[in-house]
Amino acid sequence: MTVPTAVPFTLEDYAARMARVVTDARAAGLDGVLVTPGPDLVWLTGYRPTALTERLTMLFLQEDREPTLLVPTLERPDAEGAVGSAAATLVDWPDGADPYAAASALLRPDGRYGVSDNAWALHLLSLQTALPGTAYDSLTRRLPMLRAVKDDNELARLAAAGAAADATYEEIVTVRFAGRRETDVAGDLADLLRGFGHEQVDFTVVGSGPNGANPHHEAGDRTIEVGDCVVLDFGGLLAGYGSDTSRTVSVGEPSAEVSEVHEVVRLAQQAGVEAVRPGVACQEVDRAARRVITDAGYGEQFLHRTGHGIGVTTHEPPYMIEGEELPLVPGMCFSVEPGVYLAGRFGVRIEDIVTVTQDGGRRLNDSPRDLRVVG
Ligand code: ZN
Ligand code: ZN
Ligand code: ZN
Repeated sequence: MTVPTAVPFTLEDYAARMARVVTDARAAGLDGVLVTPGPDLVWLTGYRPTALTERLTMLFLQEDREPTLLVPTLERPDAEGAVGSAAATLVDWPDGADPYAAASALLRPDGRYGVSDNAWALHLLSLQTALPGTAYDSLTRRLPMLRAVKDDNELARLAAAGAAADATYEEIVTVRFAGRRETDVAGDLADLLRGFGHEQVDFTVVGSGPNGANPHHEAGDRTIEVGDCVVLDFGGLLAGYGSDTSRTVSVGEPSAEVSEVHEVVRLAQQAGVEAVRPGVACQEVDRAARRVITDAGYGEQFLHRTGHGIGVTTHEPPYMIEGEELPLVPGMCFSVEPGVYLAGRFGVRIEDIVTVTQDGGRRLNDSPRDLRVVG
């Protein structure tokens, strides 16, 4: 496959996102939003500081003020190099100065602000000390939908990442499993993801035999044997947007039990995807997949939520979980990944990234979901 070149985001794209944050913040009862380095800042400005340090970098988005990006003086040239930073006024602070005094001057002393979930406690605690009348809350708790609905350019990148994940899977089923360690196959997965255009690999799960029964097992020293069922779950970022795919393979012919459990999970995953429609609550996707597994008698062995959003990160809102009543909106992208985990024996998980369209769910990665036999 050829790696598509992404259309760059423009200054107008970033300015529109900043404006939307201000509008959404007001609707959520906030005076503004404070953004620190990480996915929110990348999405709003394209700025990804190379060194994450204790020095304060913060984007201030407030209703009655211009967007302002406060950066350490030595990092100003890097910040200026990001396309979207031109949509904000750049203010720098030199080493030795108090950045929280500079930040306080930008804030209302009694303001209520949403803050990036990954903001360092150091920065938030220092702001609270400088301005004791201010109040802060998690950005994803107050504005969970902020990055959830993707525009066409974002969807194209997610589709490219999904296609690269499909190409990776088609190759990985041709490599040798039996007699090699999980970490060897994980290395192959990482090489393939990079070869098909990913600039970042976030995870390469290879859960063979009993290790597959631990949903977050990554890869270890265990040597894969003939007769093993192996959970593969791999993903990362391509053109800044995520892939996340799971398939379960059998090394040699599967037992009747593995085949049966795999078929239950395959049908559950299909039911989850078919539940996707605009206006349906997120929890309905979880319920649809879970019902199939529960009816087959494996409800207790489905240990996690059915899915999570994906975008500039590989795990973000919205979450497909019981209790999440947010309605699905066209342009949302998330995983549908039911699994069954039989402790000490084996696990099965099947995962695709799905986007919401007017006509229902459309898979962004779509390699075959039947139980593949590998060597
Ligand atoms: Zn996970
Ligand atoms: Zn995954
Ligand atoms: Zn996932």
